[in-house]
Amino acid sequence: MVSRVIPVDDFDLVIFGGTGDLARRKILPGLFRRFRSGQMPADSRIIGAARSELDTSGYRAMIREAIVEFGGDEKSDTDTLDQFLNALDYVAIDAKGEGGWSELKSLIRDKVIKAFYFSVAPSLFGDLAERLHAHEIADTDSRIVVEKPFGRDLASAQALNATLAEHFDERQIYRIDHYLGKETVQNLMAVRFGNVLFEPLWNSHYVDHIQITVAETVGVGGRGGYYDKSGAMRDMVQNHLMQLLCLIAMEPPSVFGANEVRDEKLKVIRALQPVEAHHIVRGQYDASDDAASYRADVENPRSFTESFVAMKCHVSNWRWSDTPFYLRTGKKMKARTSEIAVVFKDLGHKMFEGDSARHRNILAIRLQPNEGMDLQVTIKEPGPGGMRLIDVPLDMTFADALGDDAEDATDAYERLIMDVIRGNQTLFMRGDEVEAAWAWTDPIIEGWEARNDVPKLYDAGSAGPDDAMMLMHRDGRRWRDIKG
Ligand code: NAP
Repeated sequence: MVSRVIPVDDFDLVIFGGTGDLARRKILPGLFRRFRSGQMPADSRIIGAARSELDTSGYRAMIREAIVEFGGDEKSDTDTLDQFLNALDYVAIDAKGEGGWSELKSLIRDKVIKAFYFSVAPSLFGDLAERLHAHEIADTDSRIVVEKPFGRDLASAQALNATLAEHFDERQIYRIDHYLGKETVQNLMAVRFGNVLFEPLWNSHYVDHIQITVAETVGVGGRGGYYDKSGAMRDMVQNHLMQLLCLIAMEPPSVFGANEVRDEKLKVIRALQPVEAHHIVRGQYDASDDAASYRADVENPRSFTESFVAMKCHVSNWRWSDTPFYLRTGKKMKARTSEIAVVFKDLGHKMFEGDSARHRNILAIRLQPNEGMDLQVTIKEPGPGGMRLIDVPLDMTFADALGDDAEDATDAYERLIMDVIRGNQTLFMRGDEVEAAWAWTDPIIEGWEARNDVPKLYDAGSAGPDDAMMLMHRDGRRWRDIKG
C-alpha cells in the first residue's frame, strides 16, 4: 500500500528554546522527517530563538549535528538535509528583554500560518505571549504550542491559563502531551469507535479491570533538580496517565471533533473519585548492584519525592462503576514499556472438561516499545488429545496488511506539530481538562505532604515496591509483567 502524505499549508514556525534539548532531540528531527516525507511545504520557514548569540549558519550547524545524532536513518539523506537546513533561521532573543523582536518580525511572512512553540520553562510563557503581541508578531489566527509541566497544582495551572488567555484565545493554544500523538493511541479510538465488536463490551459488565503502566528504565538523568520538586505524580500521572485513562474510559463523542472529544475526556476526569490513601503506593528507587539510588541521582540525601506511583482509581459513572483502573508508573524499572491492558471478565461457566485454567481476553495496547495492539484469545491447543485450551495473542497491529503505511509510523511530536499547522486541537489538552486533572491530583499530593509520607524503597531495575504488588493481590488480581 502506498503511503499517503497530505502536505500542510505553508507556515512559519518559531521555536523559542530552539537550542534546547527538546528542540534538538525531538522537534527539529521530527520536522526534518515531515520535510523529507513531503508533508512540510518547501517554502515553510523554521526560526529558532533563544538567548545564545548564534548566527543562522551556526544554528544550522547545531541542528545538522542534532539530526545526525537523533534523526534515525533519515540522517543519511544529506541532500534533503541540506534543503531542510536552508529553511532554518535563528534570532537571538531573551524572552524577558526587548532585543531581537523586530528582527524576528521581519523574518515572519504575512500570509502564512504562524505558529510559536514555547519550548522553554513555563515561567517564560507570559513574557513570550506578551511580547509577541506588543511587537505585533502574533495575530488572531496564530497558534502557540506549550509544553508540560503545565502548572504544578491547580492554582498555578489556573494562573498560567489566565496569563495565556490575556493574549490568546483557547482555540489558539495547543497544550502538548506527546502520548496523545502516538499512533496506537489514535488507533485505540479507531478500534473502539470504528468497530461493532468492542464497544458493546466496553463497560463494567464485561471488563474486569484496566491496567495502565508507564515504566521507564532511566532515572532522573540531568533533570534531577526539576524532578525532585515534582515527582512521578506531577510529572507523569497528572498528565500522561490521566490522558490515557480518559481515552479508554470516555463515552463516544457525537463526532470526532476537537471539542467533542475533549468534552468527553473532561467528563471522565470529573467522574474520577477521590483516591483513598490505602489505594496508592508511592515508591522511590534505591541503589542496586549497578545503579545509584534516587537520592544520589538528585543529590538530595533527605529527599522524600516519589519516583514511582501505583494506584487504584474509580470512574464513577454508569459505564464504569464496577471496573477499577490501576495506574502504575516509575523510573529505573526493570524494562521500558508503556501499555494499557483492558482485562475482560472470566467466562462464568467452564464447559470444556478438565480445563481448570482461568482464561481471559485481554486487549493490550502497547505504546512503547514496538507500538501495537494485541488481543489475547482462548483457542484449542492444536493437535490430538482432546479439548485443551490455550491463550494466544491475536496481533492487531496489522503491519503486514498495511505495509509501507505501518512502517512510516510518524513520531508523536511531528504528528502533533502538523496538527498545530492544520489547526486541529483534538489531540491537545484543553485548559479546563488540565485544571480538572490538577483538581483531582492536588488532594492526593496534599495528603502526602500533610502526613510527611515516606515513599517505599524499591530496587533500581525491579518492578517497583512490593506494596504495589499487594495493591493488586488484595483484589485477587495481578499486574502484567513489565517487558521491554
Ligand atoms: P533546555 O534544554 O534547558 O532548553 C531551554 C531552552 O530555552 C534553551 O534553548 C535556552 O537557550 C532557552 N532559554 C532559556 N531561557 C531563555 C530566555 N530567557 N529567553 C529565551 N530563551 C531562553 O530545556 P528543554 O529540555 O529543551 O525543555 C524545554 C521545555 O520543554 C521545558 O518547559 C520542559 O519542561 C519541557 N519538556 C521537555 C522535555 C524534554 O524531553 N527535554 C519533555 C517534556 C517537556 P538559551 O540558554 O540560549 O537562552
